[in-house]
Formats: sequence, structure tokens, C-alpha cells
Amino acid sequence: MTNQKNQAMNIKYPIDDAHTFSVEEILTSLQTDAKLGINHAESEKRNTEFGLNVYQSKKQKSIWLIFLLQFKSPIVYLLIFGAVVSLYFKDYLEALSILVVILVNALIGFWMELQARSSMNALKKMDIIHSKVIRNGKTLEIASEKIAIGDLVFLEAGDVIPGDGRLVNSNQLQCDESSLTGESLPTPKNTEALPKDTQLGDRLNMVFKGTSVMNGNGKAIITGIAQNTQLGTINTLVENAEETATPLDKKITALSKKLIWITLFMTAIFAITGIIQGKKAVLIIETSIALAVAAFPEGLPIVATVALAYGMLLMAKRNAIVKKLSSVETLGSTSVILTDKTGTLTENKIYVETLHFPEEQLKVSIDNNTLVFENAQIEKSKENFEKLRLVGTLCNNAHLKNTEEKKKEIGDPIEIALLKLANTAEPNALEVKKQFSRLAEIPFSSETKIMGTLHKSTVGQLVAAKGSVEDLIEKCKGIQYGSSIQTLNPTEKKAILLASEEMAKDGLRVLAFAYKVGDEFAHDNFLNDLIYVGMIGFLDPPRLDIKAAIVSCRNAGIKIVMITGDHPQTALNIAKKIGLVDENEQAVITGKDLPALDSLTAAWKKKILETAVFARTTPKQKLEIADIFQKAGNIVAMTGDGVNDAPALKKADVGIAMGLRGTQVAKEAASIILKDDSFTSIAEAVAHGRTIFQNIQKFVIYLVSCNLSEIFIVTVLGFMAPASTLLPLQILFLNMVTDVFPALALGVGNGDNTVMEKSP
Ligand code: ATP
Repeated sequence: MTNQKNQAMNIKYPIDDAHTFSVEEILTSLQTDAKLGINHAESEKRNTEFGLNVYQSKKQKSIWLIFLLQFKSPIVYLLIFGAVVSLYFKDYLEALSILVVILVNALIGFWMELQARSSMNALKKMDIIHSKVIRNGKTLEIASEKIAIGDLVFLEAGDVIPGDGRLVNSNQLQCDESSLTGESLPTPKNTEALPKDTQLGDRLNMVFKGTSVMNGNGKAIITGIAQNTQLGTINTLVENAEETATPLDKKITALSKKLIWITLFMTAIFAITGIIQGKKAVLIIETSIALAVAAFPEGLPIVATVALAYGMLLMAKRNAIVKKLSSVETLGSTSVILTDKTGTLTENKIYVETLHFPEEQLKVSIDNNTLVFENAQIEKSKENFEKLRLVGTLCNNAHLKNTEEKKKEIGDPIEIALLKLANTAEPNALEVKKQFSRLAEIPFSSETKIMGTLHKSTVGQLVAAKGSVEDLIEKCKGIQYGSSIQTLNPTEKKAILLASEEMAKDGLRVLAFAYKVGDEFAHDNFLNDLIYVGMIGFLDPPRLDIKAAIVSCRNAGIKIVMITGDHPQTALNIAKKIGLVDENEQAVITGKDLPALDSLTAAWKKKILETAVFARTTPKQKLEIADIFQKAGNIVAMTGDGVNDAPALKKADVGIAMGLRGTQVAKEAASIILKDDSFTSIAEAVAHGRTIFQNIQKFVIYLVSCNLSEIFIVTVLGFMAPASTLLPLQILFLNMVTDVFPALALGVGNGDNTVMEKSP
């Protein structure tokens, strides 16, 4: 980029009809570059000039309004009526006292609402979305609000798109635009310019803020941010549904209504008998008001809100960000946790541990950028190793940076491990990538379990492919033995599968690598007739601290089930190491064994409900397993990270997304986000959920029993000793002093230590 000083000044923004621009036109008009993007200084200037990428969200209620709203309640109206009656009967002291009480009551409500609001605001701040942007040729992850006009963003499956953008590159990119256009199928994207009158749903060269990438990847130039986006024009979608009533709110409202009806009934009887008996009007009115005040559980809604909001803040501090208030309740009653493996049960610190070639197997480690062969040096497989390293480098979307910045590694941990392997030799990964420029990509998906890339090479074109051994081996025709290539025969296939099984039994995550060279290949269909070069066993150590959490869940009557896309033996090995199943357990159900949901027999259902490890499952099967557990009467909490997990996260009673490695789509679909991705945090969150629920139960029982006894006392005294009945003011004082504060103490208590020792 040159002459960037005044660039922002010359840009016409907002841009209408970016879809009509050719790629070159959009680059020129936004003064950006399809490879380098803009630079950091320029982005800051544009942020200043065009604003940050944030919605002018609906204004929060002002402090004054919150205060004034405390007076908007039937009980306050009643009290004011009581004060007026007192004034009418010239009881000035009583009138003044009532007004003071109204004020104090409002101040307490006001203070509590501020507490709840600051808890909610603190929670919101934790839920920041990041985007991948290319600035000055380098890929960075930045908060989406800092995305600027003209920024070049990299989009891949699972990303929520941060702004409207004109695509400059698309590798089988497909976006879910249902929130914008109503189209339920993913829309395939390309980079061709379109006529002006193209409908929104047909603007295939554009991506839109708030929609998400379902498949493939691509790059787009940001043409609209914040309100100047298609989503920004649809106000209803902008505000999130944070303020919808929770089941708890609804139950509390229903309870309050019942209490009011009881009082009205009592008041009516009391008034009628009073009139018949010829009691004084002032006495009848005062006692009626006293009854109403007695029945109204003033503290209930506000204490409930404070208890939930405070509980959520505590949970957030313990790494579980709760997005929906109601999930706290559900979480406490969870009876089954369906969890994935990588990162949740393992550390997600993946590194290359075993190299397996047709003629030898080697244990390796990387120490300070040097590849160390642990037991024997490589002999017969040098060429296989070079090919494997080349494929691992090229068939790779991760980035490693050498600067001292905080985030040095961006991308899939497996691919990061492959780049580290590549960097142990010369030329390093970056130089290799430059040598073999990429022409096309068939992205990885959990369904195909394979990723492939097509590159220019000195002898024509090169295909690099990696994926699960079972799936990739089916795409191979040849096998490399040192410098010679032979046809892959069934015996060799079997031997490879057997070897991968052995590695999986050691708990390794195994990937196979293959390639082919030729003059030219179709850009969307090159994953066939490949040449197999070898496998890598990646070590991803189990999180051993999980053992205690698993025991604690078991004691709490919660069943834990692992559902993974990985190899059954890898899954079983990890399950044993963390104590999910015992040492002799062999039962694993794989995706291939699992019958379709509509042909499921009772025996299969029983088997599924009794199994603790599911492997090689597809995202669809994950959803089905959740469904089976739910239909058997369980409250199901489910973890997920990928774009394909989103439906299951929505379907589960509590969807838990991974904060570190989870895609934004998964985070949006989930009701809880785990900041550290760890299973231990799930177990802690369940315990917290139970405590909060217990607290709520305690204070509801406390407040309602207080109200009922007050109704009883006022009614009995009203009939038997009208002169000595409690006055509205006294009741209100009782409610405030003896009710709200103790209830609050019950509501935010730490709970007892035995919450996780009972069944949900
Ligand atoms: P987990 O439960 O362990 O998180 P998952 O359900 O997310 O696993 P996937 O990530 O879909 O599983 O991986 C399934 C299989 O696909 C892996 O076992 C591996 O063989 C293969 N695989 C994973 N990542 C890649 C990748 N980046 N490129 C190619 N193949 C991959």
C-alpha cells in the first residue's frame, strides 16, 4: 500500500450496490489489496472516520428511569391511596410515614436493579466476537468491532461474518443466510460481478454481517459495517433476546397472581362483613390495604433477578459464561452430559508423536525447532517423510507468527503441529507455501473427514491431501516406497488400517497423508487416484484433572457420554485414562454401526442409553443421540465447537460451546460458553446451577411463607380484634426489614457442600 496518508478521506462510504462492482473496482474504490489488505494505521484512521463496527444498540435505561420505574407497581399505587386516605382523615404522621416507606422501598429496589445490571454488563463484555483479518499481508485475529471499511477478512466454516463484504476469493464457500433471506439451504458463493437489480438472496458475490459460513472458506473486502449493513437495516434482528422472561420469571409472576387473588378474596369478605357489622370506614380501608400489602411479595422478582445475575457472574468468574438466564435453572437439573473429546477431555496441545511409513515407524519429538528421533533414525522412508512434510505444510490453513505478540498461533491445532514439523527443516513452511502457490481447496468437513488443496508446481500441478485414515485410503491408488511408487493393494490397505488402529489404541489422533502430481486437475474434483505416503500419530494428552470432576458428576447422578468424530480406539484410550470407563471396557458405538433413527429398535435404544463412548460419529448422529437421551426423560447438556454442532447445541436442553476453540456459530447457538473449554468447568457450572436453584427455592419459600402468615394475622385480627390489627405501614416495614434482606442473603448464599451428592 502506498500513499495511505489521506486514503480514508477519498473513500466514498457507504457504498451502494457493492455486488455490481468487479473485484478490481471494489479494490480501487476502497483503496485496498486482495492479498495484503490495508495496514494497521490505515484501519485505525478508517475506524475514526467511519466509526467502529458496533450497533448503536438500544439505549440502556437511564439511572433516573430505573429509579422512577420503582414506583410503577400496584403496591405503590395502593400505598399512595393509603397515604391519601390518611391525609383525608387528618392522620398526617401516618401519611408522611407511608410516603417515607414508599421512598425507602424504591431506593432498595433501585439499588438491587443496579447490582443486577452491572452483573449483566460484566457478562456481556466477556462475550466478544473475534474475526480473522489480513493486514499488511499478515493474518491476525481482532475483535470484530475493530473491523474497518476495506479490511480483507478471511472467512472459514464456523465464522460469523463481521460486516457486509464483497468476495475476492471463494473456495466452495457456502453461507447460511437464513436469518437475512429466509433461505434455509446454504448459499454457494463466488466472486462474479452481478447486475444492479439482483435480489439480496442472489447476491452470490457478497457476504453479509451476522450470517455464517457453513462450508469452505474465502476472503472478502469489507464494504459495510455496523448500521450500514443489510442486518443493520433490520432492527428487529439487532437487539438480542436477553430481556425475554425466563421460566423462573413466569413462575414467579404466576405465584404473585395467585397471592393477589387470595388477598382480593379475603379483602372482599372482610369488607362485606365489616360493612354489615357497621365497622368504621377508615378501619375497613386500612385493614384492606394492610391485607393487600401483606399478600404482595415485593421482594420476590427483584431478589430472583439479583440471585440469578449474581450467580451468573460467579459462574463467569469460574469460566462458564451463561448467555440465557433460564439455562442456570436447567443446568442444575442436567442428568446427562454429552461431551466431545478434543480440548474438552484432552488438553488440545497437539503435537506430532509418531511417524508411520510403509516401511518403518518412528517416534519423534520437536525440541526448540529441531526434530528429534526418539528411538531410531529415519532410513528407508526419507522420501516419504519429505512428501509427508510437504503435504502437511501445503494442505494447511493455520498460521504461525514469530513475533512476540500474544497470539502466535492461529488455526486448527493439528495444522499448527504440522507447521511446527515443517519448520524443523529448510525451506520453512512459509517459503514452501510461497513456492507452491495454492490454486484451489476442498475444505475439511466432519462428514468427509478429508481436506485437499491444489497447487502450482514446477512440473505442473500438485495435490496435497490429509484426513482420517479410513477415508483417505479409499481415495488412494498408489503407495510410495522411498523413491518408487506402486499400486496400493488390498493387503497393504489392511496393514495401514491395522497400524492406524494400533496407534489409536495408544490414544493418538491419527491422520493419513497423500498427494499426486499432474499437468492439470479440475479445481473442484481432485481428491482421487492419490498416492499414499504415510501417517502421523498426534498426541493430545488427556486432562487428568478431569478425573475428579467425573467422579463428582457421577455422585451427582449425572451420566457422562463422550461423542467424538475421532477413531474408536483413540476415544476408548482417552476415556479410560480419564476414568470415564473402566480399564476393561470395550464397548464403543461407532457412527457406522449406529442405525438410522427411524429404524432404531428398542434393544438399540437401550444399548445407546447404556454406552459411554461414541466414535466416528457425524454431527447429524450427535443430534440423534441427544434426541434419544432426551426422549428417555433426561435433561441433556451438550458440548460442541464446530459449525455442524450448532443444531445439536440448540437441540440440547443446555448447549455448551467452547470459548477457545469453538466457532462463532457454535457460540451463538449455545446457551453457555466455556472460557477454558474444560470439562471441569462444566461440572463446576452444574454445581453452581444447582446452588443457585437451591437458593431460589429457599428464598421463595421464605418470602411466600412470610406473606401467607401476614395475610393470616391481618385477617384474624381484622375479625377478632379490629382495633389492634396491623397497619399497612407496619406490614410494609415488616416486609422490608424482615423479608427482603434475609431473602437476599438466602438468594446469594454459597449453598451447601452436598449439592453434588444428590441426584438431579
Ligand atoms: P473431537 O470429539 O475429538 O473434538 P470431532 O468430533 O471434532 O472430534 P473432527 O474434528 O470432525 O472430530 O475430526 C474427525 C476426524 O477427521 C479426525 O479423527 C481426523 O482423522 C480427521 N481430521 C481432523 N481434523 C482434520 C484436518 N484439519 N484435516 C484433515 N483431517 C482432519
